[in-house]
Amino acid sequence: MTRSRLYRTPAVILKRMDLGEADRIVTLFSRDEGKIRAVAKGVRRTTSRSAGHLEPFTLSDLLLAVGRELDVISQAATVEAFREVRENVDLTSHAYYLAEVVDLLTEDRQENRAVFDILVASLHELSVAIDVRLVLIRFHLQVLDALGYRPELRECVNCRHVIEPDRNHFSAVHGGVICPVCGPAEPTARAIGTSALKLLRFIQATHGERAVTAPPHVCREAEALLRDYAEHIVERRLRTPALMARIAETAP
Ligand SMILES: [Zn+2]
Repeated sequence: MTRSRLYRTPAVILKRMDLGEADRIVTLFSRDEGKIRAVAKGVRRTTSRSAGHLEPFTLSDLLLAVGRELDVISQAATVEAFREVRENVDLTSHAYYLAEVVDLLTEDRQENRAVFDILVASLHELSVAIDVRLVLIRFHLQVLDALGYRPELRECVNCRHVIEPDRNHFSAVHGGVICPVCGPAEPTARAIGTSALKLLRFIQATHGERAVTAPPHVCREAEALLRDYAEHIVERRLRTPALMARIAETAP
């Protein structure tokens, strides 16, 4: 008799990939175990009962069986399908984006309840938001914070002087704002407008819990800056394993 250990957890489906004739590998962010890649068996058959519960960005309650390499999804039930988001192409693309950011910024099996909560809350917010850019800004700031990449927005990351409303810069490489004195000498710095900086600081300080509005161009600037920063973190994170593999290859 084969022994299997089962565990149950709510999870948001991040992405899926076909495997063999009828199976899929599903990447999900679970509340209790962090990011998991699991096998959904027979899910591409028309008779599958799980398929509808394993669509991207669905929040599902899953029962998983511990496998030798990948765990196996043995039951799935939708908790929240985010129907309003799914019925709108623009919102759908935003939901895919949230899922992609969580996938890229997190590592397997690192439990992070805050990231799970932020993802679920942001998917809810997308369906009711007046300005989806503000949802993305809030999401980025909170996820970065929860993963230990909180951008420094109060002090110059170079000289530690308090940042004043001035011609400031932002450096994704250094993870924060650079003052007008240090800015010109820092090749990785880009200009950041005072309004965009104020918006980011407000959302960071209030943990996104207070209502805020901003003109579209300010939201665009703030969002682009956070996106750059997140992309930079992903590259930095991914470069290390590649480098380690290269070193291992060349080692005698
Ligand atoms: Zn400085």
